[in-house]
Amino acid sequence: MEFCDLKKQYAEYKEEIQSEINDVIDSASFINGPSVMNLESALASYANVKYAITCSSGTDALLLAFMAYDIQPGDEIICPAFTFIATASMIALYKAVPVFVDINPETFTIDVEKIEEKVTKKTKGIIPVSLYGQMPDIDKINHIAKKHNLWVMEDGAQSFGATYNGNKSCSLTNVATTSFFPAKPLGGYGDGGAIFTNDKDLADKLFMLRNHGQEERYKHKYIGINGRMDTIQAAIVNVKLRHFDSELKLRQHAADRYTEMLTSYVEVPQIKAERTSTWAQYTIRVNDRDKIRGKLSEQGIPTAVHYPIPLPYQDAFSGYASSNEEYPVSRQLSLRVLSLPMHALISEEEQREVCDALIGALNG
Ligand SMILES: *Cc1c(COP(=O)(O)O)cnc(C)c1O
Repeated sequence: MEFCDLKKQYAEYKEEIQSEINDVIDSASFINGPSVMNLESALASYANVKYAITCSSGTDALLLAFMAYDIQPGDEIICPAFTFIATASMIALYKAVPVFVDINPETFTIDVEKIEEKVTKKTKGIIPVSLYGQMPDIDKINHIAKKHNLWVMEDGAQSFGATYNGNKSCSLTNVATTSFFPAKPLGGYGDGGAIFTNDKDLADKLFMLRNHGQEERYKHKYIGINGRMDTIQAAIVNVKLRHFDSELKLRQHAADRYTEMLTSYVEVPQIKAERTSTWAQYTIRVNDRDKIRGKLSEQGIPTAVHYPIPLPYQDAFSGYASSNEEYPVSRQLSLRVLSLPMHALISEEEQREVCDALIGALNG
């Protein structure tokens, strides 16, 4: 059994993908070819935002957005204590200060009740992360940001395609980012990412920053990077995007099946009524996680831990004041979370096998 079966998915779309890849190679338009522009307009219309700027990864999407906001050393940026490292490492790379906030115990997303106590005169923005595919309470976050004159940047690496009150992830904040890492719900066959905004000036700047800050050929308005997405990757993601809504439905069905099979045995994920999830991960909570993981592994069932160490407790962030604080919810959940095999094409039989093994492991 695979944790995320990309081979099975490729078998479904093989001809379409091969033909798009061949078109790119035949045209020899490898950098910023037509597939890149096509993907950008398809992404913008899918998310219902004015501009989508593709780039080399979800990490570079965050970096480019910080560059566009002209983050300065010492600026403080609020982010959750429990997320993938890239959310906070790009802040630190810029010599800005990640200010960690604990998470909500039900949704695993930033605890909106604990944001305001972290706002200081140096705070510039808030980065809520839509963890496992579910957005946080974005209305509340936008409200806090407005009150304190901060920008909000949704890290939607796991949630592109999710909704909040019917609005798409990556459309409700000043700027938002996503990732096309292969295992993300909308994944390519290599690295890729995108940035979303309705702000034309910001979009213009982002298009330049990802291409050496170039305004026109060899005329550079900003210090930028080579942060472009390959045309071949864009061609692949274009095909995947055509099938994305049906995949999201299949993921929802798979999540519903897990919940039905497991709800009397373990703590299953909770999605708030006004939200939908992409189910980037189906993450349960168990005690004795490592023992249970070992038993599942013996039976050939792959699982994953997203994430074993909250960011404030990572050595990489030991130099920041907020890493000395306590984050009880993050700490507790990091010991208990367990992600089960999840992808659009997982079968009911496979899920049955996972659940039988899990229930067996819980009882023994
Ligand atoms: C995957 C991920 C990223 C980074 O995306 P890459 O494309 O791998 O660079 C950033 N933030 C979160 C929350 C992620 O899950």
